[in-house]
Amino acid sequence: MDGYALHSRDLERAQSEGLPIAQRIPAGSTGSELQPGTAARIFTGAPMPNGADTVVMQEFCRLEGERVILEQTVATGANIRPRGNDIKRGSTVLEAGTLLQAAHLGLAASVGLGEVAVYRRPGVAIFSTGDELVEPGQPLAPGQIYNSNRYQLSALLEAQGCEVIDLGSIADDFDTTRRTLLAAAERADLVVTTGGVSVGEEDHIKTALQAVGELNLWRIRMKPGKPLAFGRIGAVPFIGLPGNPVSTYVTFLLFARPFIQHLQGRTQTTPASWPVQAGFDYQSKQRREYVRVHLNHGPDGAPVAETYPRQGSDVLSSVVWADGLVEIPEATRISSGDTVRFLPFSEWAR
Ligand code: AMP
Ligand code: MG
Repeated sequence: MDGYALHSRDLERAQSEGLPIAQRIPAGSTGSELQPGTAARIFTGAPMPNGADTVVMQEFCRLEGERVILEQTVATGANIRPRGNDIKRGSTVLEAGTLLQAAHLGLAASVGLGEVAVYRRPGVAIFSTGDELVEPGQPLAPGQIYNSNRYQLSALLEAQGCEVIDLGSIADDFDTTRRTLLAAAERADLVVTTGGVSVGEEDHIKTALQAVGELNLWRIRMKPGKPLAFGRIGAVPFIGLPGNPVSTYVTFLLFARPFIQHLQGRTQTTPASWPVQAGFDYQSKQRREYVRVHLNHGPDGAPVAETYPRQGSDVLSSVVWADGLVEIPEATRISSGDTVRFLPFSEWAR
């Protein structure tokens, strides 16, 4: 605090007759021992001189020649930050497994850490599957659609702190799929694909994976995103995300992201969620559903979730429109006004 440092024994005297200003201590310098019956001119960021225990702010004072007169009552010990006020010597500043965000970096710097040990960014090899896919910027022939998953998946992985090894897109062909899986696993800590993981005979991911590694899990009772696959190619984990773009997005956030966070050594991997009020009626069937919602504010200011009118797994604009997902348990009837679990997209992109 910009003001005057003194000893609390002299507070009364500072009010009645004032104290002589014996020294000046700007930030960055150290004063000398404060003699009883004197005050030190002091500035924010300067260390307290020995012999002082209180700082009175300059707005409470008036100067008379070389004396400072205190015009208000001030409590002993006021306006001082004791050493170790934030961090005690020997205490843990940051736990291993913590994502280093702005405040964490500031805190590490504040205790003088010039270097911290961190996990290497995981290298994640990705490729999309589908004979119908064309890259944006190219003309579209009949029967073709633009590859959207490649771009959203890259961005999701980058936001997650991964190095993306982008292998582009491949044809719906068993041998190509098998070879691309092997090439991907050679270069990456994790392989993530989109599409080709459903039940049709043009879906080659599962059989190709079984040929070069193992399939440990396939299909989740959820909507969107049922045909999710998980396995290994040698020691490299594999996640096969479904091809429909909304399914890709939702299963990435619910499954791939926590898995990647685990690879990154992070201890907190559960997606953030909190209760909100449903502003809609809904009846789920046998699968757990994740509906895209936008949060409005109800009459009392509390958030109310409204669903996007079209919830198809092809409707990627629903994800752009939405603030997040509402989880609807299996075979459950939701009525407007019920409390539901909201998973915000904003919290997930970290
Ligand atoms: P699949 O799982 O390969 O049967 O794909 C399911 C649906 O998602 C199909 O309609 C595909 O055309 C579509 N799809 C698959 N991959 C992509 C992609 N990379 N970008 C856009 N749509 C895709
Ligand atoms: Mg396909």
